[in-house]
Amino acid sequence: MRDAGRLVARAHQIVREMIGPGVTTGELDAAVEALFETEGAVSLFKGYPGRVPFPAVCCISVNEQIVHGIPGDRKLEPGDLVKVDTGCRLNGWCGDSAWSYAVGEIDAVKSKLMRVGEENLMLAIEALKTATRWSQVAEQMQKAVRSAGFSVVEQFVGHGIGRKMHEDPQVPNYVSPQLMKHDFRIEPGLVLAIEPMVNAGTKDVRILRDHWTVETKDKKPSVHFEHTVAITDAGPVVLTRLED
Ligand code: MG
Ligand code: MG
Repeated sequence: MRDAGRLVARAHQIVREMIGPGVTTGELDAAVEALFETEGAVSLFKGYPGRVPFPAVCCISVNEQIVHGIPGDRKLEPGDLVKVDTGCRLNGWCGDSAWSYAVGEIDAVKSKLMRVGEENLMLAIEALKTATRWSQVAEQMQKAVRSAGFSVVEQFVGHGIGRKMHEDPQVPNYVSPQLMKHDFRIEPGLVLAIEPMVNAGTKDVRILRDHWTVETKDKKPSVHFEHTVAITDAGPVVLTRLED
């Protein structure tokens, strides 16, 4: 899974270097597709079943779009907040990671969102060192987002990952009575895709007519950060990073 994770990290490195005003979301997607092809990896996203199969190797979501945006002709502009989510299977094992990128100068709300979102993912990884159950992590994540004055998306959650992208358990970024029923122990061998989605305004979402793109109901911006994280005897290890 480390190899798959590293390849996903390389995809993000390419995206980070390419992203800028005038670049289209389709060009970013094509670059990641070329990398996966060269390395003999299979996209986990392209053809993913839905009302229509997902048509690309990356989900690229801009500004008020939260997740599952479809790459295409849209040219990025200064001030855009771009979420790129991608995953691959390499030698039978999966990696999945999302990151939020600023195009040029972004406004103060978007900057704060970027900081709070990234911190939320890092806080979760840190909390895994001592937590015995996921709900303890989720509670800290939820608290941090709320105290920043933002909201946690509840309609989409993280997941276990292994030979398949979406495995049990579900990994929510908040706590609720429903979650308490599906709470799980943090123990070595578990691999989780942890992916906080943080909205500037309402937590409520809407799905666009393309059957995929999820946006905030109030059109305020959103961020998404995701790493694939293995729980080992030595603690959590981030697999979707280039360096150990
Ligand atoms: Mg993902
Ligand atoms: Mg995921």
